[in-house]
Amino acid sequence: MKKRDDWRADTRLVHGGTTRSQFGETSEALYLTQGYLYETAESAEARFKGDEEGYIYSRYANPTVSMFEERMCLLEGAEQARGTASGMAAVAAAIGCQVKSGDHIVAARALFGSCRWVVETLMPRYGVECTLVDGRDLNAWKAATRPETKVYFLESPTNPTLELVDIQAVADLAHENGARLVVDNVFATPIFQRPMKLGADIVVYSATKHIDGQGRCLGGVILGSEEWINEDLHDYYRHTGPSLSPFNAWTLLKGLETLTVRVERQTASAEAVTSYLDGKKGISQLIYPGHSGHPQADLAARQMDKGSTLVAFELEGGKDSAFRFINALETVSISNNLGDAKSLITHPATTTHRNLSEEDRADVGITDGLLRLSLGLEHPDDLVEDVARALEAAL
Ligand SMILES: *Cc1c(COP(=O)(O)O)cnc(C)c1O
Repeated sequence: MKKRDDWRADTRLVHGGTTRSQFGETSEALYLTQGYLYETAESAEARFKGDEEGYIYSRYANPTVSMFEERMCLLEGAEQARGTASGMAAVAAAIGCQVKSGDHIVAARALFGSCRWVVETLMPRYGVECTLVDGRDLNAWKAATRPETKVYFLESPTNPTLELVDIQAVADLAHENGARLVVDNVFATPIFQRPMKLGADIVVYSATKHIDGQGRCLGGVILGSEEWINEDLHDYYRHTGPSLSPFNAWTLLKGLETLTVRVERQTASAEAVTSYLDGKKGISQLIYPGHSGHPQADLAARQMDKGSTLVAFELEGGKDSAFRFINALETVSISNNLGDAKSLITHPATTTHRNLSEEDRADVGITDGLLRLSLGLEHPDDLVEDVARALEAAL
């Protein structure tokens, strides 16, 4: 097929990675198959030996999954990628494949709940210690570093308080110490932040979020250098089986085609809601990386092209006002998901972050009045009107 090296990102999202069957289909083909046939016994032998190119088994690789991986590589500027069954499969594999007993991880403490469980609870079971730090404080990253530190892990903006971490600075620190930086880039999306350009070694996504973006399937992806994937991830991935289903890869390929258009629109709505809430009575905190009032607005301007598709805000009056606000919404639905075509709101303290101790929640700024709103594709005016209605009901 036609293919150009100088395609801009949006064009790559439509055409990148497509391989066509003999039928010349327009849309990407869905190869729902577990296995592959060999013409001869010699061919099977050669393929297992690695002397002949080709697929062997869909736990290792599948043509539809390969198209998704290739398109993600083109978008992210990565050499290689592996699709995974979920975002958590991506995080667990990206970290688990490169540590062994005695190694140490430094991670930002403001993490998606399951990510925090992986580094804080799971890894120590295998003798891999983890130190959690305030990700905004570069000195804390430095102080936590040990000779045996192998992995630095962060997400930026963080869930749900939209704090930022200086990716370039942490990448430099990791490299000075011969370690690698893994970035969970879900909240920024690949459209607005490119961690590899800032020095990150490995980038992971929950494709469940903006990449699918229409609430249909789970998926994830791990991106890195060819060398790292071959040396650390390849065997781990093949033998532990976090593989992405071909059907979900196909769904995600279709999602990528519209990713820029969706994320741009969702961000415009997030900006509109932020502007509306700015300075309103009853709002004790408004957090949006694209807002001049964000405590790390300079860093946001340096490492992100635009804010985010999410806004966080705190209502005066704690849980009671927060619940009144949520229950009064008519356009926005209550759900812990994000990045969806439907606008969704969540009360982190009683849902996604309820497993943290009260102290840990306070530590990362998850108060009882905090809400996280993920903007969807509804008309921005309908969303602002809904938020206005709910705010009135909450006060
Ligand atoms: C949702 C999410 C994950 C986990 O992804 P799943 O696809 O639900 O497994 C990891 N990190 C962040 C930041 C997320 O938002």
